[in-house]
Amino acid sequence: MRFSDIPGHSETKTVLINAVKNNHVAHAQLFFGKEGSANLTLALAYAAYLNCENPTETDSCGSCPSCIKIDKLVHPDFHFVFPKTAKQASDDESAAKGDTMTLWRSFLLENPYGNAVDWAELSGSAGKQLNISKDDGKHIIKTVSMKAFEAKYKVLLIWLPEFMNISAANSILKVLEEPPEKTVYLMVTNDYEKLITTIISRTQLIRVPDFQVEDIQQYLVEKQQIDSEKAEKLALMSDGSLRVAMNWEHHSEEDSHQIFREWMRECWGLDILNLHSKSYKFNELNKATQKSMLVYGLAILRECLATSMTGNEPNRPDGEEKTFVENFANNVPTEKYEKLSSILTEAHFHLERNGNPRIVFMDTSMQISGVLRSR
Ligand SMILES: [Zn+2]
Repeated sequence: MRFSDIPGHSETKTVLINAVKNNHVAHAQLFFGKEGSANLTLALAYAAYLNCENPTETDSCGSCPSCIKIDKLVHPDFHFVFPKTAKQASDDESAAKGDTMTLWRSFLLENPYGNAVDWAELSGSAGKQLNISKDDGKHIIKTVSMKAFEAKYKVLLIWLPEFMNISAANSILKVLEEPPEKTVYLMVTNDYEKLITTIISRTQLIRVPDFQVEDIQQYLVEKQQIDSEKAEKLALMSDGSLRVAMNWEHHSEEDSHQIFREWMRECWGLDILNLHSKSYKFNELNKATQKSMLVYGLAILRECLATSMTGNEPNRPDGEEKTFVENFANNVPTEKYEKLSSILTEAHFHLERNGNPRIVFMDTSMQISGVLRSR
């Protein structure tokens, strides 16, 4: 991963690069950004830059032996800790360890903007509890105590430390308190409030902002060969998450529009019979479509709120969608949007954690109906 592979974020990149140039590399850094942000990719690009043999002013070279090994994630001084199932953790002691690492590498290479749910799906552990366990803690201590083979900096990347159990957290704390020379810990989190304060206080926080609309648009055009107009639309709906924007790309937008519009109408009318039959249809959709309908709903609600507050025309082409936004904005008072958004966000959360889609749908419908119909 080069810095140039990551759209935008020029300020953060400069801060990271200057730290290396000025020899001010903090031994523990916490890359904090939401799901689908550049937190992981920035940490990967930084690991490459730290050890590059011919770095330029703005990036690693991508062609020295260190860059090549780090890019393929096979550098002997580049170590990873990430959430696993109990089965995967116990495999670490056996020959099957290689299987988990192979899956992990393909996850990082193919889907570096993915989240824990994507990782679980790829590694065949969807719906199972993920953890950074006591054994991972032991692995951390062992890794840190070994001498670096060849790198300038030994790097230990901990993805989603919020999954650490207390025993793993204590191991981390131990190595953070006694930092060995030329060892760098890069922690990549979506939720640093879940980390214990003693860990946070020993790390340098790198706050990774959401992607800008134009950054996502540019990425979709250049790397995914999506035409510019569609890329802009996806970027506008993605709420700063490259993950959401790319997931959107993989299914028909039209479906989400239509399902969402009908759904809101039925909630408004408390049309129980239709909501009930729709919950079965929702259950039959694939998971990506279920989730993206909710994400679409969140984007539309934001737009309705903006329209309602400013009185400006919705930022959509003429058509059913625009009419829907105008009508909704005219009929739903501004103070209800926050509640509606949090209901959809919660439904999305439950789907990601493998809640039963039919029950989630019905439950969400009742809550939305309650808010829409309340005075
Ligand atoms: Zn290099």
